[in-house]
Amino acid sequence: MNNLNNIPKKTELAIIGSGPGGYAAAFRAAELGLSVTLIDPEAKPGGVCLHRGCIPSKALLHVAKLIAEAEESKEIGVSFGKPKIDLERVREWKNEVIEKLTGGLGMKVDKLKLNYVRGIARFKDRQTLLVETADGGQGELAFQQAIIASGSRPVLLPQVETSPRIIDSSGALELAEVPKSLLVVGGGYIGLELGSVYAALGSQVSVVEMTNGLLPGCDRDLVSQLKRRLDKKFADILLSTKVVALKEQKNGVAVTLEDKQGEQNSRRFEQVLIAIGRRPNTENLGLENTAIKVDQKGFIEVDGQLRTAEANIFAIGDIAGEPMLAHKAYGEAHVAAEVAAGRKAVFDPRGIPAVVFTDPEIAWCGLTETQAREQKIPIETAKLPWRGNGRTLSLGREDGMTKLIVDPENDRLLGIAVAGPGAGELIAEGVLALEMAAVSEDLRKTIHPHPTLSETLFDAAEMLFKG
Ligand code: NAD
Repeated sequence: MNNLNNIPKKTELAIIGSGPGGYAAAFRAAELGLSVTLIDPEAKPGGVCLHRGCIPSKALLHVAKLIAEAEESKEIGVSFGKPKIDLERVREWKNEVIEKLTGGLGMKVDKLKLNYVRGIARFKDRQTLLVETADGGQGELAFQQAIIASGSRPVLLPQVETSPRIIDSSGALELAEVPKSLLVVGGGYIGLELGSVYAALGSQVSVVEMTNGLLPGCDRDLVSQLKRRLDKKFADILLSTKVVALKEQKNGVAVTLEDKQGEQNSRRFEQVLIAIGRRPNTENLGLENTAIKVDQKGFIEVDGQLRTAEANIFAIGDIAGEPMLAHKAYGEAHVAAEVAAGRKAVFDPRGIPAVVFTDPEIAWCGLTETQAREQKIPIETAKLPWRGNGRTLSLGREDGMTKLIVDPENDRLLGIAVAGPGAGELIAEGVLALEMAAVSEDLRKTIHPHPTLSETLFDAAEMLFKG
């Protein structure tokens, strides 16, 4: 890549942040002919997703899957011994995965002749950025248009700071050690994914969730598919429970928990992982020097073209609102880059898939049953358990469910949800079906390969057939 401390005097498009939003926007804009300057504190593009988020967590979840499959295979007549885990090699391999991907992005930065500046940028005004480079240099960058893609960071409990004993997702992904006991605060995406990794590596994992169920917002019948397995893997799942105090001690953390009756009890864990949500990185951007508006949750307000209140400045990804997912950022990045290059584009997806990469995975897109009930939208559903699916049984599994949600008036698909191994891959068919305004009969008339898990989408559509 170019000299990373070199701040150009001017650029057509400045992009703050080189995560999935920032790099995708930079590549698209450069392909459309704009001169682009991408600014990020890391030496290589990739953002949280590649360096300490989606990718390393999926690498570690793969390790967890191997361990679980080896353990469970004795049921089908194949026994392995207790796994020997070389933590240093696991860490090294995970870092190699990150290195390959961020290195590949770096090569694309060169190929498209982008300026990559390793530093931090803030707005001086609506056409100038003040940039501080990693080597302590400072400079001004005049831009015609800008895209803010500065992402988000983990939320911590009040008055709690991270330490080797109290970690957030970034700390957990470093995998410095496998504690004997780990308390995961928050039963959402991160808590359950990383809790699963540490449980597979040998920690006694307990999860404490403030609401009365895991993965709030996700349909309960999907969650119960996951909970059945997690109940066996985790030492404890404490619902409707809050952490009221955390106190670091010499060999662990003393935690005071409070249940919904207000009863408190204290327990000690070797490590505590806090996974209670993420917050957009809107501070320190100098937004006060522009007319850009931020809502109550700290997200930058944007229109359908991802423009902020300053017409030449766009915001995309986690900074621009929920859901805080890399693939939403990709979609927004392409729209913002195309609009910046003078094309007509709008961000208006029919469904943004959500995937929880636990075992089983849970994935959904479009309308959920919970939302339909809350919003009093009439729906018809088909729920197909996987235990009759040949591929499921031949994988040594019996769990899993595919759910279709349709408009009872016209059979149009409104939502698709899958819980089971590989759900994250299967949901892509559902997303395409939503984008194409498919009816359930389209799924039924599509020949699905046999024997595969994808047939559960076909079979669920059969359940809706009234012919
Ligand atoms: P989350 O919002 O998914 O879950 C946080 C959980 O913590 C919720 O269940 C909430 O009720 C609970 N909680 C909040 N305060 C609490 C408290 N004081 N005590 C106990 N429980 C408490 O957030 P996350 O898991 O931190 O993930 C953050 C974001 O990262 C998500 O919004 C998601 O978009 C993204 N993410 C996505 C994936 C994926 O796509 N597979 C994976 C990881 C993260």
